[in-house]
Amino acid sequence: MWRSPEPKKSYDVIIVGGGGHGLGTAYYLAKEHGFKNIAVIEKGWLGCGNTGRNTTIIRSNYLWDESALLYDHSLKLWENLSENLNYNVMFSQRGVLNLAHNEHDIKEIKRRMCANRLNGLDSRWIGTSEIKKLVPIMNTDNLRYPVLGASYQPRGGVARHDAVAWGFAMRSDEMGVDIIQNCEVKGIRTKNGEVDGVETSRGFIESKKIGIVASGHTSILAATAGVKLPLQSRPLQALVSEPIKPVINTVVMSNAVHAYVSQSDKGELVIGAGTDGYNSFTQRGGYDVIEETIRAIVELYPIFGKMKMLRQWGGIVDICPDASPIISKCDIKGLYFNCGWGTGGFKATPGSANVFAYTIANDNPHKINAAFSLDRFVTGRLIDEHGAAAVAH
Ligand SMILES: Cc1cc2nc3c(=O)[nH]c(=O)nc-3n(C[C@H](O)[C@H](O)[C@H](O)COP(=O)(O)OP(=O)(O)OC[C@H]3O[C@@H](n4cnc5c(N)ncnc54)[C@H](O)[C@@H]3O)c2cc1C
Repeated sequence: MWRSPEPKKSYDVIIVGGGGHGLGTAYYLAKEHGFKNIAVIEKGWLGCGNTGRNTTIIRSNYLWDESALLYDHSLKLWENLSENLNYNVMFSQRGVLNLAHNEHDIKEIKRRMCANRLNGLDSRWIGTSEIKKLVPIMNTDNLRYPVLGASYQPRGGVARHDAVAWGFAMRSDEMGVDIIQNCEVKGIRTKNGEVDGVETSRGFIESKKIGIVASGHTSILAATAGVKLPLQSRPLQALVSEPIKPVINTVVMSNAVHAYVSQSDKGELVIGAGTDGYNSFTQRGGYDVIEETIRAIVELYPIFGKMKMLRQWGGIVDICPDASPIISKCDIKGLYFNCGWGTGGFKATPGSANVFAYTIANDNPHKINAAFSLDRFVTGRLIDEHGAAAVAH
């Protein structure tokens, strides 16, 4: 599907991290900005990080204008991605519900929904009877926190996670991008305030432009260049059930009782849990976290009570203090970061890659990611999206 080239001595741009965001960045650099000499360096295999570990929910119903613009830029790219890549990423716009279980939820969700509508997004409030029509198996009233309504974004949905990495990889490779797997970047070398290249497990590789897109490991790489990023790395878990016939054809999320679920095309229930309450680099996560999630799922959907769970895993997510990403250059010339996506960056994959490629190519942010620069932690212009995330963190 792509070549396995030996690393060259030097590249015009090096992208560290072969997840969806990194591969997408290489794709847009080659396609839209005419770069010919690009490498993506990945320590494992493509998509082995959070790209291949997430629960694939895609939506753009974020509170603040800056976020709505960024995530909807991405959603629009998703809508044509299979066609543009000529590769089926199985994007399925089956709609996303965010449930309200108490007065506070109703107010918070309606506020977000109104902000979404002012930004032209397809978000609307639906009552319990409409929820029941969309998801007949849901228990809305006979539970500790009854379902009182929901916001609904019909354009939201899911996609096949690793297909996105593979699609971007194949098309990047065709445009001459060197995809180098099993090659760990050990450090970033700088000289006189600018980047010089990366030390890797396969030797030094020179470049004057380096984009770090290493999710949970970004802060470790940044530290090798003396950059301290405001990121915490924590395990986030997911699990899937045995496959069953179609029972739920939309995505349902609940922040309050902490349960979200969708059904894959194979028939498995795809369930997401919260982050562990401490920093860690184990791709596993604590048992108590999934136990609590399953309790909430079974209360909301009693018919799932007897289902067997097949697999469970974790990914290391990189969380910013304001739960918004960093897409930014920094004080070191030629060094760029795309990180801090935390629990919700899959949905942003094409949009983030697209504006990050612009930022690297022009050494200046695209207007869509200007607000997501590192200097917001100095100016205090934070974009607090803790409430928009599906899971506790
Ligand atoms: C369980 C779980 C559920 C999630 N659910 C959702 C969801 O439903 N919707 C949503 O929008 N988001 C979700 N997310 C978040 C989403 O998965 C991530 O934000 C997104 O996939 C990040 O993509 P990425 O390309 O930046 O990172 P990754 O896919 O993690 O790619 C980074 C790559 O960098 C590589 N790397 C790291 N260090 C080095 C090094 N030193 N040298 C070379 N390579 C290196 C890693 O091996 C990895 O492949 C979830 C995450 C998890 C863990």
